[in-house]
Amino acid sequence: MKTINEASLKGKKVLIRVDFNLPLDNNLNITDDSRMTASLPTIKKVIESGGRAIILSHLGRPKYGFEDKYSLKHLVKRLSELLKTNVLFSNDCIGIKTSEDIDKMKNSQVIILENLRFYSEETSGGELFAEKLSQLGDLYINDAFGTAHRNHASTSILPSFFPQKKYFGLLLTQEILSLKRVLYKPKRPFTAIIGGAKISGKIDVISSLFDKVDNMIIGGGMAYTFIKAMGGEIGSSIFEEEKVVLAKKLINDAKNKNVNLILPTDSLNAESFHNKANVKKSNILEISHNYMGMDIGPDSIKQFSKIISLSKTIIWNGPMGVFEMENFECGTKKIAEAVSHSTEQGAFSLIGGGDSIAAAKKFKVLDKVSYISTGGGAMLKYLEGGLLPAVSAIMD
Ligand code: AMP
Repeated sequence: MKTINEASLKGKKVLIRVDFNLPLDNNLNITDDSRMTASLPTIKKVIESGGRAIILSHLGRPKYGFEDKYSLKHLVKRLSELLKTNVLFSNDCIGIKTSEDIDKMKNSQVIILENLRFYSEETSGGELFAEKLSQLGDLYINDAFGTAHRNHASTSILPSFFPQKKYFGLLLTQEILSLKRVLYKPKRPFTAIIGGAKISGKIDVISSLFDKVDNMIIGGGMAYTFIKAMGGEIGSSIFEEEKVVLAKKLINDAKNKNVNLILPTDSLNAESFHNKANVKKSNILEISHNYMGMDIGPDSIKQFSKIISLSKTIIWNGPMGVFEMENFECGTKKIAEAVSHSTEQGAFSLIGGGDSIAAAKKFKVLDKVSYISTGGGAMLKYLEGGLLPAVSAIMD
């Protein structure tokens, strides 16, 4: 793993692939700049070493070339403020004009290039597009963990044009080291907490984590498919009919692999998907037909928290209920607090995924866990055991 610390940066044109896919409101104001701040150390390192920082990123999912709302020009002001320097902008990410913009740069200056995804070749992994990007720089740094699981031109192909000159950025290094620590040297007991709306996107990670963890806690909407598989009455709770057989298989696999699979025992149910709806607590196996499970109940909270408090390594992806609604936030909040408490007692805790980070923020535990991953999808892929394409592309 060759990191930016080994690169000679002075006077060099340094291509830095970051993940500046930030949320913007309707007035194109940034509503959360965490992904930008996460890559500041790498950008600062380049400029403080006298390199010219050329920022490559995507923003959103443009379909037909240029779309103003996805232009990276909307990020220039914020990056300038954060770096306390006048950040430049180029209207394109390849071509003569961009090349000229870069040639005019002085050492230690920063330029953001226009959205890579205005070219469909970015997502299709175009060789020629990657080659054109490569002509703009002397060396390549990847700091975009959020897109590391994707096989895109700027992440998987571009590095091949920089043999011996491709490096891990500081954020990417930190992300991979935290994940490695969890996967290869976990202190035990090792507990995974998986939640969120659906099993679909998380089946593979649940399955492969059975080979690694001691405890697997399942909460959130996905728990109801498991409860259905156990023959429970789940009322009108969210569930995936086509995944019931698979849920049964996962329950069996857990037994065979000696993993303690912990499902909620009680549920907080609502008459409709609404914060002010009538609510009723019940045993999770006996939800009335016109009620839907919106959060884990108090017994489940107690049971989950106990396991978390005894754990030495914890990973968490996905909320325990509809935490965005005040009346159904309690389960997620208490689990966030349990993770933070356990961390205080010496456990290593890793949280990833947009909703889990939003929950950690809402319940003020962001700085009370060991590591917050900037990439939910990439984190899950890595935990599945798959080598991330962007990571293998920068290994020599
Ligand atoms: P995911 O993207 O799969 O991690 O799902 C996150 C979403 O799951 C959040 O927006 C939660 O509101 C939602 N969620 C969690 N628990 C439930 C539930 N019991 N019923 C419906 N949605 C839920």
